[in-house]
Amino acid sequence: MMNDESNEIKQVLENVERFLKQQQSLYGNFLYAGSSEHENSNIELSVKSKPSKQAPEEIDLFGKTTSSTIPLMRSSRQTDHPYPNEPWVSASSLTDLNNQICECLKCTLGKTRTNFVFGVGNPNADVVVVGEAPGADEDAQGEPFVGRAGQLLNKILEAIQFKREEVFICNILKCRPPNNRDPLPEEIEFCEPYLWKQLEIIKPKMILCLGRIAGQSLLKTNDTLTALRGKFFDYRGIKLMVTYHPAALLRNPNWKKPAWEDVQLFRKTYDEMKSKAWSENKTV
Ligand code: URA
Repeated sequence: MMNDESNEIKQVLENVERFLKQQQSLYGNFLYAGSSEHENSNIELSVKSKPSKQAPEEIDLFGKTTSSTIPLMRSSRQTDHPYPNEPWVSASSLTDLNNQICECLKCTLGKTRTNFVFGVGNPNADVVVVGEAPGADEDAQGEPFVGRAGQLLNKILEAIQFKREEVFICNILKCRPPNNRDPLPEEIEFCEPYLWKQLEIIKPKMILCLGRIAGQSLLKTNDTLTALRGKFFDYRGIKLMVTYHPAALLRNPNWKKPAWEDVQLFRKTYDEMKSKAWSENKTV
């Protein structure tokens, strides 16, 4: 009898341990103690996480070993758990991925959004354009960059001979922050892995980040836009440039000239890559 009871207790404890380990691998050292009244309350797990065995520079977009030297992870949570063990990580197409993540409720923006704004464009694009987060128009229509900033983005793309449909356009966040406030660090932490997966599927040759938040998030830096813009970074083998956000250009037309210089350099570099690939008989 005593033995039966202690076996049962042992079993329960093993189940609890398995559950906590699973939660830790999904969410780091925070246990989501969701109830209808306290849906967002987190309890820090007392389970000590093991130090990461891999140095950050050895981890690729999804935690696989790579020789790249770009630091990817910023917080200890990301370093410990760079690759959430969720079904969408094995999505094989953008449609599949969208279907699997479009009901996301990982952060509070899931509750206030009208539409999940996955991104639009060519699933085989050479160029991915990354903005910050959907605004009111984007939230209403479920498509990125459809408001005033989007009209300007279309003009900028046309000016450097890219059609909107030819590139892929998305954001760091898939849901609109209320009153267009800046994304919070935890919102970026939850949402950015979706973008990494989009990039893994699309395999672009170049990324154009619009604005400080997009640049800082992907490059894992706190450098200013002035320090980041107008040059190329190697982002996991993809050429990445940061330039002004079109909404900033609408507010401050003085930035249009440097923005124009940035995107001209972006196009020139794209053309050079393309002709190099042609001469090597590869397709870019
Ligand atoms: N601003 C962004 O950063 N993204 C959009 O989709 C719209 C406005």
